[in-house]
Amino acid sequence: MVKKPKFGSWISIKKINKLNNFGIITVQEPWEILEPKITTTPKFVVYNNNMALSHLEELYKSLRKFIKKDFSLIGIGGGSPCDTAKYIAWKMANESKKKVDLFLMPSIISVDAFLCSSIAVRVNGKVNYIGESAPEEILVDYELIKKAPKFLNRAGVSDTISITSALGDWKIAVKENNDNFDQSVFNRAREIAKDLMDARTEIKKVSDKGIKSLVQGFYNEVKLCEEWGNARPEEGSEHFLAYCLESITKKHYIHGNLIGLNILISLYLQEDNAVFPIDDIHQFFDDINLNFKPEEQNISYASLQKALLKVQDYVVSEDLFYSIYNSPQLILSEEKVEEIINFVKSL
Ligand SMILES: [Zn+2]
Repeated sequence: MVKKPKFGSWISIKKINKLNNFGIITVQEPWEILEPKITTTPKFVVYNNNMALSHLEELYKSLRKFIKKDFSLIGIGGGSPCDTAKYIAWKMANESKKKVDLFLMPSIISVDAFLCSSIAVRVNGKVNYIGESAPEEILVDYELIKKAPKFLNRAGVSDTISITSALGDWKIAVKENNDNFDQSVFNRAREIAKDLMDARTEIKKVSDKGIKSLVQGFYNEVKLCEEWGNARPEEGSEHFLAYCLESITKKHYIHGNLIGLNILISLYLQEDNAVFPIDDIHQFFDDINLNFKPEEQNISYASLQKALLKVQDYVVSEDLFYSIYNSPQLILSEEKVEEIINFVKSL
């Protein structure tokens, strides 16, 4: 079960200063902010952004000697440090049979990794989910998060706002592929997306309230998907086009920006099955200053075109949820792709 996060100003410092047997997994930026305020001494401070499984295994071997009885492990940062801390805690429990108390402190709200218990690692460059690690506490420190660039925090609308296109895919999958469906899960998902959109002024400012809305959106979305049993309510064609593009360019993009672009493409292609109007979502992105345009995220129109030409085969070969990209109603010919590119340029 996803843990309810705690919110406050400098709660990360208050927590760390109460611990005496602990290690820290982080990256440079948040640690440089926190270190001068900390009065206790960690057993280790490790920077990690490398999520390759082979690297994580080496890291675990080098750290396990420090981890004794009643040890607390703290992950501070974005997705990678939090997932690294989850990984080390999971390895300690499984291989060394030692339970460590895991604390997660996001320094940025760009992805939902700090709320998900599943651990995302990379094997041969591809994301794999191995094992689960449940934190003792998730601490959302407003002051720490506000030190991160605003545009990165705003991209934290990613996996909550992806509901807006994932729901259209779900409708299509029920009609065309007889997929499982639950009206109340569907309705709850729609409300989660609406709540997020209602908080647009605060999200744009990245105020305390805005940060809380972003985290609350993630929390509600993760909780709903857990209850439903998979990511269907929040993941659909917008994610699949992102995976397809990344498989072509081998680049990583800011998740929320790329998902933002792909949501608009999905809503355009879903036509009458779209659950949210394109204009509303486009307006929301403009209102919060989301950098969703290809030019703003270093995506060339040529690679977007390639991804669109490939995505229908890609979703089949990767065995992804049934979405608009599986629909026999959609044929992504060169002309159709040209039409989509023109639509994107018009945004
Ligand atoms: Zn996502």
